[in-house]
Amino acid sequence: MRKRSNTYMEQENGQAKGAAGSEEVFESGVSAGRIPVLMYHRITNNKVTAKENWICVHKSNFEKQLRMLELWGFTSITFEDYELYLQGRIPLPRKPVIITIDDGYLDTYTQAFPLLKEYGMKAVVFVLGDRTLQYNKWDAQNKVPPATLMNKAQIQELQRHGFEIGAHTLSHPDLSKLSCEEAWEEIELSRLALKDELGVAPITFCYPYGGLTRTTKELVKKSGFRFACSVYSGPSSIGEDPYEIRRVTVRNNVAELALQLIVPQNLINGIKEALKKNRQIEIPSVIKNGERVNQVLPVHRQVGMDFRQQ
Ligand SMILES: [Zn+2]
Repeated sequence: MRKRSNTYMEQENGQAKGAAGSEEVFESGVSAGRIPVLMYHRITNNKVTAKENWICVHKSNFEKQLRMLELWGFTSITFEDYELYLQGRIPLPRKPVIITIDDGYLDTYTQAFPLLKEYGMKAVVFVLGDRTLQYNKWDAQNKVPPATLMNKAQIQELQRHGFEIGAHTLSHPDLSKLSCEEAWEEIELSRLALKDELGVAPITFCYPYGGLTRTTKELVKKSGFRFACSVYSGPSSIGEDPYEIRRVTVRNNVAELALQLIVPQNLINGIKEALKKNRQIEIPSVIKNGERVNQVLPVHRQVGMDFRQQ
């Protein structure tokens, strides 16, 4: 088994470099304010069907994705590290990445954990507060097969290895569909349950299904969390809205993750939409001579061919 340094703090001993949102630009074009936040659910040793490829990544592809992150010079950090960086207590690594794994499946422990350890990486794992839930029964109506969840000892072991454990409500409801009182209970009681189990209150929350409203965001903030992850909503930079952090959905496909790391997600989404509707692509604005310039190109010119002929 390969032995690597487990935290970037062992690799860099300097003081914090500059304030949050520093415009230092890294080799890949990822700036300090643009830390990619990856979203995984299940890492499996079983065959992954096309239908499942948004929720399951095969163990072999997961390893290739980790190898790619390593080759490209990324260092995994947690939101707890990011918080320490914001407080000026530790520096950020040159190319940080945050790996998140949702729901607390047993395969996070049996499949993902050994590989992450082998690559000297760590993850932020979002678990439920209700430990009587032993499998993903909230997924039953979506025909997602049942999968066992981790127990308390396994979650504690991840924590001991420097993984961050974040809260994912008590029972995995769509918070945007609950009353204010029900949402508060799911948020606050999950925080207290994890504090009790882990001896330290979690600082990061994750909205099930990415379901959130302005009120749920306020409740998460009021509960004392410092960060909250969504799925497809929120600004692309984690510093802009700590309570709605957009994540990159990692599928069972290594090349797709490579593309997602190179090209900003909003540009990928813009191209997909434009191709679907055969309209113009809106390219993220750039600063030229001190002025923000919006760039718009017709889709067929942008991709070098005329899709209208097809
Ligand atoms: Zn979930």
